[in-house]
Amino acid sequence: MNYCPECAGKVTLKITEGDERPRFVCSLCQTIFYTNPKMVIGAIPEWDGSILLCRRAIEPARGKWTLPAGYLENGETISECAIRETAEEACAVIADLRPYVLVNLPHINQVYFIFRSQLVENKFQPGIESLEVKLFSPAEIPWTELAFGSIKEVLKLYCEDLRIKKFPFQIIDICSH
Ligand code: ZN
Repeated sequence: MNYCPECAGKVTLKITEGDERPRFVCSLCQTIFYTNPKMVIGAIPEWDGSILLCRRAIEPARGKWTLPAGYLENGETISECAIRETAEEACAVIADLRPYVLVNLPHINQVYFIFRSQLVENKFQPGIESLEVKLFSPAEIPWTELAFGSIKEVLKLYCEDLRIKKFPFQIIDICSH
């Protein structure tokens, strides 16, 4: 950040009185700009024991597989976000959303929240951000072709829970790449 979006003054990084961390502060109007972690919301769309994955058409990790997920928008609930991302990336409709896992990623300032969900019908196709969309049984998951370490952890957990047929809500911390 270089210039203040309020007054176009020069912005500098400094620790203000009573604070402990450096913040971007406008040198003219003194506005403090706080930056906080972003929330990424996703779904595990299930159909008959298989999981719907999307092959990314965009960077980062173009060509790699992932779950439908994306940034939470202002004015949106997390369920609405998971439903929207699944519609956008896989042209699929999900229902019966259940909170499944929260992934803390403090090294990249993100928090993932992933729902379990059911595909309403066996109907899907690549959206604009996907090259391919496909159902994978746990044995078919392309482990070496997954886009993100966090998604790999979520899928490992899910495959294990599918096996024992119990899906307790969990929080995982991933602290490095
Ligand atoms: Zn300013």
